[in-house]
Amino acid sequence: MSDSGTPKSATKSRIVFLGTGTSEGVPRVSCLTNPENDCPVCPDAIKPGSPNRRRNTSLLIQRQLDSGRISNIVIDAGKFFYESAMQWFPKYDVHTIDGLVITHAHADAVGGFDDLRDWTNNSQESLPIYLREQDLDSVESLFYYLVDRTKQTGGGGVAKLIFETIDAVPFAVDGLELKALPVEHGRNQEVFGYRFGPVSYVSDASAFSDETAELISGSELLVLDALRPARTHGTHFTLEEAIWQARRLGVTRTLLTDATHDIDHEPVNAELAKLRDSEGLDIQYAHDGLAIDIAL
Ligand SMILES: [Zn+2]
Ligand SMILES: [Zn+2]
Repeated sequence: MSDSGTPKSATKSRIVFLGTGTSEGVPRVSCLTNPENDCPVCPDAIKPGSPNRRRNTSLLIQRQLDSGRISNIVIDAGKFFYESAMQWFPKYDVHTIDGLVITHAHADAVGGFDDLRDWTNNSQESLPIYLREQDLDSVESLFYYLVDRTKQTGGGGVAKLIFETIDAVPFAVDGLELKALPVEHGRNQEVFGYRFGPVSYVSDASAFSDETAELISGSELLVLDALRPARTHGTHFTLEEAIWQARRLGVTRTLLTDATHDIDHEPVNAELAKLRDSEGLDIQYAHDGLAIDIAL
């Protein structure tokens, strides 16, 4: 496992963080427009290359298959998906989306579905989307014309999406096996994280069971929700809760995601690095565009 950060590395598979921010994204526009506001993070986030610029939490899984073809699987396409794709797809040579896997149907995970038309109009025939039955119902109420294409009225051509419903049974996406990690995202709201190979991805969670902990155990890399420090939220882990989970699960490395503007990337990561020295806990916030080479 290594941080590549370069578009064309020798390793045949990697993950790329397409977004590491919570629903509202960072910066908050109101932090930029309110003269009384003293938020240090949002003004930094608009500087080119700032690690504080965060779009909705999303991940690219990229593998070079034996045939030589590059397979691109995306987890979640939320409100800022278009912007994430515009910034990172050219850099990482992403020409097709060979599978889109959904964690749950909140706007920061499915709000970008309309923009998928670019791929099915111009790069590929259709696009398979893997999601739970209840999430498909929510998507249908948000985007009725994408689920029933006979209802479209515009002339631009809507995305040709193939919806595949999933449950807790492991399933394959373009040859990669994914196992659902059922987690709580608020009281009595179950959503999915996913385990694939040595990676566990849990972007939206406030609690999970011992059974799910067992599915995560042995991961080389855990990507985990850590909204902000201190103030509990109800539907997301705080930073302190995420650290506690990383200790409990004993994974090799943890990268945190789904952060608000309360997280100032570099100083917070410098603090977290002290845990590596004091107790051998490797835990850091990811940032948009971070690429990790890992065998899948
Ligand atoms: Zn702010
Ligand atoms: Zn959510």
